[in-house]
Amino acid sequence: MSEQGAQKHSFQAEVAQLLHLVTHSLYSNPEIFLRELISNASDACDKLRFEGINHPEYYENDPDLHVRVSLDKDNKTITISDNGIGLTQQEAIDNLGTIAKSGTKDFMSKLSGDQKADAQLIGQFGVGFYSGFIVAEKITVESRHAAADVADGVRWISSGTGDFEVEQINKASRGTDIILHLRDNALEYLESYKVKQIINKYSDHISLPIEMQKEIWQQEEAAEGEEAKPGQMVKTDEWEAINSASALWTRNKNEITDEQYTEFYKNVSHDFDAPLAWTHNRVEGSTEYTQLLYIPSKAASNLFTREAKAGIKLYVKRVFIMDEADNLIPNYLRFVQGVVDSADLPLNVSRELLQESRDVKTIREGNARRVLTMLDALAKSEDEKDQEKFKTFYAEFGSVIKEGLGEDFGNRERILKLLRFSTSTNDEVSTSLADYKARMKDGQKAIYYVTAESLSAAKNSPQLELFKKKGIEVLLMADRVDEWAMEFIHEFDGTPMQNVSKGAVDLGDLQDAEEKKALEAAAEQFKPVVDKLSDSLKAKTQQVRVTTRLVDSPACLVTGEGELSPQLIRMLKQAGQAVPESKPILEINPEHPLVKKLEGSNQFDDLANVIFDQAVIAEGGLPDDPAAYVKRINSLLLK
Ligand code: ADP
Ligand code: MG
Repeated sequence: MSEQGAQKHSFQAEVAQLLHLVTHSLYSNPEIFLRELISNASDACDKLRFEGINHPEYYENDPDLHVRVSLDKDNKTITISDNGIGLTQQEAIDNLGTIAKSGTKDFMSKLSGDQKADAQLIGQFGVGFYSGFIVAEKITVESRHAAADVADGVRWISSGTGDFEVEQINKASRGTDIILHLRDNALEYLESYKVKQIINKYSDHISLPIEMQKEIWQQEEAAEGEEAKPGQMVKTDEWEAINSASALWTRNKNEITDEQYTEFYKNVSHDFDAPLAWTHNRVEGSTEYTQLLYIPSKAASNLFTREAKAGIKLYVKRVFIMDEADNLIPNYLRFVQGVVDSADLPLNVSRELLQESRDVKTIREGNARRVLTMLDALAKSEDEKDQEKFKTFYAEFGSVIKEGLGEDFGNRERILKLLRFSTSTNDEVSTSLADYKARMKDGQKAIYYVTAESLSAAKNSPQLELFKKKGIEVLLMADRVDEWAMEFIHEFDGTPMQNVSKGAVDLGDLQDAEEKKALEAAAEQFKPVVDKLSDSLKAKTQQVRVTTRLVDSPACLVTGEGELSPQLIRMLKQAGQAVPESKPILEINPEHPLVKKLEGSNQFDDLANVIFDQAVIAEGGLPDDPAAYVKRINSLLLK
């Protein structure tokens, strides 16, 4: 930068657009500017602490990090100062004039018009600085980077329209002053009680002191016989902390109110809603750490996309290290938000290092166990509120935790206990595996379930006909993840789990000897038809056999034990994966008139193919050649 004084720069187009938006649509919740600027000041101190590990000289003679808020009624300014890392001139130009991340566009696309929710968003997309313009007609930033000389400070000035000016200044103290020249409709922020209130509301948990000048009450003594003079608050030279200034998670549980936990959650997660539940523990032992983990009350919209990010922030001995520390929580709990503070990891830990660390593995396991235990307690609680919370949790995250059945063998039992299903006799998603077991019929030896593409397809699946007739309850599973996840589960609490669309049905003692005999007889009698069918459908099925599982339908498809179901195959194909070709088994109902018609039919081939295609349709698929199917049906109808 030259010595010629101020240089004009234009804002990046997106910034100009954003600024317009900020000042025109967030004005109903203006106080958030303070939260954002204090959060930036706190980040700047975190950065100094982090860089100071390798550069102790950065601290100069000013080692106690703090944020100071000062009010100047005469000049109508509010100034937020920090002695953090500071900005170089180039950084001021880059960071306050452009938006590096794709932040703006994302931010603008998420705006809902609900000002409260929108104001919450602003911090999330790396555009918090600009919220200063909600209350300020002009912002002056004066800063000096910890590594820069006193003469190499920078002043940045803008009135938040098209451009900003930058010039070199002398700045004795390290760090940044953000000076807001308040608009006339924002003068209430010159009142210290008001500012203190806002700091308490939003920034109490910030781990460094946020200070304001101490005020004392001054009242002149009235002379004899005179009326008492009005007193006033007068600022002193002393600074006092307004917030508690200790990182929330380092405090004692019973000193923290629910409101404080909630506000902290909103801050770390950028979620506007209160959390459903949280767990806060200091873990001691070979690996020492503190965990403060929250369950949100709503799933993020990207939970099932590749963009989903872990919500855990990592601190090492209270120094902020990184966001989105995905090594600290298993993937199936990626919706959990919060903080982990480790006493054992090195401060310069990198993501690569995290991957290999044994301590990290211990922490991850500890986090998973805690979250699952907390959920279990909610599920078991007699308290109606807790039960309501568990329901909400399950509706939002039930299908995510199922991924854990395949991912986290150690916690399988814990996860299984949390699962809830609707069943062939109960639509509500409320039946646990234990509930199901308790309702099993005498002589029933397995937990039966059916997987399908939708709940109604599961409920009306031909494979359930016999179960319905015999009054045996079947669990219905229609989440995309179900079939994959259930592959890993062979039993629950000593009782085998059986997918009724896989393999032959074995109802064990629920089927009496007579029924079994009848089946054998039917199989014998139908052998010629079955053989002919096998021949006719050779290209489409691996086997044709007689079954007793059907009551109303002529036929159904079954998957061989240990093979992929047609539905899973469809799913994998849609996802663009190569799938080994495997043909289903066709089971026919010897009691069905259509099947009986096969014997001696002179349209055997058409009928056989129609029966097969209908079985495909019944379980949610499409015939391989729909036109041929229609043609066959029509030809049969005309007869
Ligand atoms: P974010 O905080 O998400 O990065 P902001 O719009 O709040 O987005 O801030 C933009 C950038 O401006 C910050 O990333 C930082 O580089 C810089 N900045 C803002 N305030 C300060 C400050 N007090 N000290 C140092 N840098 C700051
Ligand atoms: Mg910020």
